[in-house]
Amino acid sequence: MAALPVYRWRLAPDGYATRRQLRARGLRPGGQDVAAQLERPRRRRGPLVAYLYRIDRAKPVRPMTPARWAALAKANAARRTCPECRRDAGYVIPPSLGMCTPCAFPDNTPEGS
Ligand SMILES: [Zn+2]
Repeated sequence: MAALPVYRWRLAPDGYATRRQLRARGLRPGGQDVAAQLERPRRRRGPLVAYLYRIDRAKPVRPMTPARWAALAKANAARRTCPECRRDAGYVIPPSLGMCTPCAFPDNTPEGS
C-alpha cells in the first residue's frame, strides 16, 4: 500500500473509477486492489480520501439468473413458513416469536376458530 499514486480531486486519470462509479456502470472491482487514491484537502481535518479502481480490470456485476431468483424466493418462503403449523404466514416469522402469531398466541385468535 506504500506506492499508491495520489491524485487531486477532479484530476483523476481516465480509466479509473471509484467503487460507486463502477457500480453506476454495472461493474464491481472484482477482487482487484485499489489502484490509486484521490485526496480532497479539507480545512483543519485530514484530506477526504477516495479509492480508485481500474476500469479495465473491473468485472460486471453478476446478473440475477432465474436460478438465483428461485433460490432467493425459496429462502424468503422459508422465512415466512411457520415451523409450528408449516403454513405460509404471509409475512416473515419474527425471530422473537419463532412461529406465526396464531401459534404463538393460540388463545388470542381474533375470529374465534
Ligand atoms: Zn403457525
